[in-house]
This record gives sequence, C-alpha cells and structure tokens, in this order.
Amino acid sequence: MPDGGLKDHCGVFGIAFHPEAAGITHHALYALQHRGQESAGIVASGEGGLEVHKGMGLVADVFDRSTLARLGQGTDLAVGHVRYSTYGASALANAQPLLVRYRSGPLALAHNGNLVNAAAVREELEGEGSIFQTSLDTEVVAHLVARLSDDGPEEALAASLARVRGGYALLALAGRKLIGVRDPNGIRPLALGRLGDAYLLASESCAFDAAGAEFVREVEPGEMVVVDRHGLRSTPALPPGRPAFCVFEFIYIARPDSDLQGMNVHAVRKELGRRLARNYPVEADIVTGVPDSSISAASGYAEEARIPYEMGLVKNRYIGRTFIQPHQEARDLGVTLKLNPLRKVIDGQRVVLVDDSIVRGTTSRHIVRLLREAGAREVHLRIASPPYRWPCYFGIDTSSRGELVAAVRDGEEVRRLVGADSLKHLSLEELVAGTGAGGCCLACFNGDYPVPVEGGGRLG
Ligand code: SF4
Repeated sequence: MPDGGLKDHCGVFGIAFHPEAAGITHHALYALQHRGQESAGIVASGEGGLEVHKGMGLVADVFDRSTLARLGQGTDLAVGHVRYSTYGASALANAQPLLVRYRSGPLALAHNGNLVNAAAVREELEGEGSIFQTSLDTEVVAHLVARLSDDGPEEALAASLARVRGGYALLALAGRKLIGVRDPNGIRPLALGRLGDAYLLASESCAFDAAGAEFVREVEPGEMVVVDRHGLRSTPALPPGRPAFCVFEFIYIARPDSDLQGMNVHAVRKELGRRLARNYPVEADIVTGVPDSSISAASGYAEEARIPYEMGLVKNRYIGRTFIQPHQEARDLGVTLKLNPLRKVIDGQRVVLVDDSIVRGTTSRHIVRLLREAGAREVHLRIASPPYRWPCYFGIDTSSRGELVAAVRDGEEVRRLVGADSLKHLSLEELVAGTGAGGCCLACFNGDYPVPVEGGGRLG
C-alpha cells in the first residue's frame, strides 16, 4: 500500500453516439473511482451544444439526479474524468474534463498521465501571450490545439501532441467527435469498448463491465482513434516509441477485475505472490494481505507456500486513501481508521504480511505495529514488487527521491524502520517474468526512464 507517496493518477472514460451517454459515463466513473477520488467531472455533447459538471470529491458526491438529468438531456457523446492530486482552494479549477472554447468551437479534454516537458512548453506559450487558467498540463495541449485551429481537431491534436513528451491517455470531445490518443510508449492504459453501435474508451476494462459494454481491444501506443457519424477510424498519430507500459498498473493502480496488456490484473498479482513465496519462504502460521490491492498477491503467496490465507486486516471502505492527507500524523490516524486488525485471527500467530509496495515506509510501519498490538508473535513482510527507488514522472506523482525510503536506506534499515521480523522484496527479474510482458516501464525500480525527463533519473 503506497503511503502518502503516490498520488495523481486519474481515470478517463468516453462514449460516442449513445442516447444514455451521460448516464453510462456516470456508471463508468464509479468503476474507475479507485483511480482518483479528489474530483470528478463529465462533459456531455449533443446537437444542441455542451453540458458540463465538475466537482470536488467522490463521484457519488459530485453528481445528483438533477445534474445527471441536465447532462443527459439531448446528449449522445460524453467524456468523464476522476482525479487525484493537489490540495487547496485551486483544486476545483484543476478538475477535469477541461473545457475550452476556441475559434473552431468548444473542446473538452480529459487526461490521465503527465507531460514531462509541459512546464517548458507552457513558458514558451506564456512568452507568446497565452494566459493559463489552471496548473494542468492538459491546458498546454488545449493552447497548442487552439493555435492550429485551421486544421481539423484530429490534425491539430496530433501536431500538438508531437510537441509534448510523457505518459498519457487523452480523450477529447471536439464538435461531434470523440477522439482518444495514447502516448507513443503506451505508458498509460487506454482501451476501446463497444455497446451496440456506440464506441467507448476507458482507462480500464472494468469500466466497460460497469457500462454493460464489451471490451474490443487496447488502443496502441501512439494511436489515435476517432469516432464520428461515419464510425470508428484509427490513425497512427505519433510514431511509437520503446514499449513501456506502466508496470505499477499491475502492481497497485488497476482494479483486479480489469485486463491489461491481454492479462487479468488479479491473475498477474497472484502470480507475483507465488513467485514471492518461492523465492522468500518463511515458517509461519497464516498469510494475510493489505486490503485491497495486495489481496491477490497474498492469496498467491498462501497457495504456493501452503500456509492458510486469513483475513488479518479489515478495511473500512468509507474512508478515502490515506495519502490525501498532507501531514504524517493525520496519515497515521487515517491508516488506523481505515485498517483494523482482526485480533481473533492474529493473536499468537506467526504472520506473513503481503503488501504490493513500500514507498515511504510509514504505512508499513503502522500496519506492522497494528498486527503486533493484535498479538502477532512474528510479522514477516513480503513485498510483491522491487524496492521503489525512483520518482515517477508519468502520472504517478511520488514527490521527491528523498522521500522514497528505499532510495535513502538499505534493506536492513527499512526492515528496522517498519519493525518487521523479516522483509523481502520481489526481484526485478521476477517482476518482469511475473507480469509476462516485456516492454514495461520499470523506471521507479531501476531509474531507466523510457522518455527523457528533466531533473532526474537515468535516461533510456
Ligand atoms: S515510473 Fe513506475 S509508476 Fe511511473 S510509469 Fe514507470 S512503472 Fe509506472
């Protein structure tokens, strides 16, 4: 469970030519809620124009019956967004989809990811007189598109994206068109679905299940898909780069019922847990996982080690993720409110505690302490990923390198810090073998960034 270290991943969804477009987008955002809990928004479009609604909080807080009725009135295209990220008063201004009006009409953009050269491009645009209203890198794309408005929206978008670098899945509503583009390295996920004659685009396939739609395929790196009255078109908008799908989607971000890169996320996590058990066995009475993202890996560990899996920690599902709290004390309290050890299960036992990752180490330390207070005789921490040593620049904001515990401490120091009897991480080789797919981004583990990043990292 990343602890206060990971933020700023988002979820996007779009649908074209369905009379219930806004309602379906609303359902899909519920399914993508795990990707962002700070704000949510929908822009819906019909022959009569655009409707927009955005707000801070969970999807359930942001939309009510009357808002949805307004969004659904006469509209048949929609894009939606859920977001994590910044604190403070300006956050609503940064809620997406971003809606701008330029010479060619309104343009709505919903974006998951991060453009690593956004600051430089923004400075250049500001130097030429552009005025920005948000701190979103998405707005940089909007300005670039507006300058190329004599071209059609597809051409303008492709030319604009050629000027930026990073990891992104970008959806646009332009006129009566839904456009989706995935970054040239395929870092952030984007999938195509179908519901009758309507096409859908989503960060994860679980959104299609919620919409009652079928998964068609993943959007290829650098590919642009355009849905208009004539149907679906695909163009290679940007030359594909080195394949670098974010391996952290498998480890933590995505929902276990989603399929990514042709593989089910739960099955991949379970396999990582099995490999962890084979490589780092330990005498123990029970295996337990940190809910929710580590349950699959923990069940794989238990099966392979032939140690009973037990529900050692109960999660209160009605509290937001810990890292939306800026201060350490508040985060610790957040963990306590969120996770309660099941004393009857833990008391007197030697426990293997499986977690997906350690970022700062503070949450792991807290959970180990909770288990000991519940009577655990031993706590052996097994992490289903390698030590997280390098910041991510592609949509998972991990603060600075100094805050990553594995970047500044060796394994034994981290074990002492978290208070476990033993601590083992899955190796990079086992992670690559367990995810079954070459061509993943592994930069947060090895510093080998697939796209040159300013200000840090080993460039690959
Ligand atoms: S650096 Fe890590 S979190 Fe970021 S895209 Fe690469 S694998 Fe994903």
